Amino acid sequence: MSTEPSPRGHLPVVEPPVNPDTAPYWRGAAEGRLVLPRCDRCGFVIWYPREFCPECAATEVTWFEATGRGTVYSFTVTRRAHGAWGEVAPFVIAYVELTEGPRVLTNIVGIDPDDDRLAIGLEVTAVWEPTPEGQGILRFAPT
Ligand SMILES: [Zn+2]
Repeated sequence: MSTEPSPRGHLPVVEPPVNPDTAPYWRGAAEGRLVLPRCDRCGFVIWYPREFCPECAATEVTWFEATGRGTVYSFTVTRRAHGAWGEVAPFVIAYVELTEGPRVLTNIVGIDPDDDRLAIGLEVTAVWEPTPEGQGILRFAPT
């Protein structure tokens, strides 16, 4: 697994580990679609993607395409970091609360970290940053 700066000074991307439990998510990610599992028993939308419900322990899920929309639940601006991340600092780490419920630890891109519009409650939309091997890394930008 390698971390290398992506072109145009964007945030670094890492090739994700894809396994049978997460393959539907990554097939969607490679196509720029946010595909998530929903528990067949209790309806809970599961993050991180896996075929196990952390709410009721069911192992039957149905994968569906989420809206890719959400709001910033919390965030921080990282101004110093090591390696490839240091080269792109400052950058934003955030929890985004998806319309479907889960809170996703991610990055906010497409906005200057010092922009006053960057705030809790900001409406954001999923964007996919490509990896060298054709996967998509989920990040969010202002809607
Ligand atoms: Zn469940």
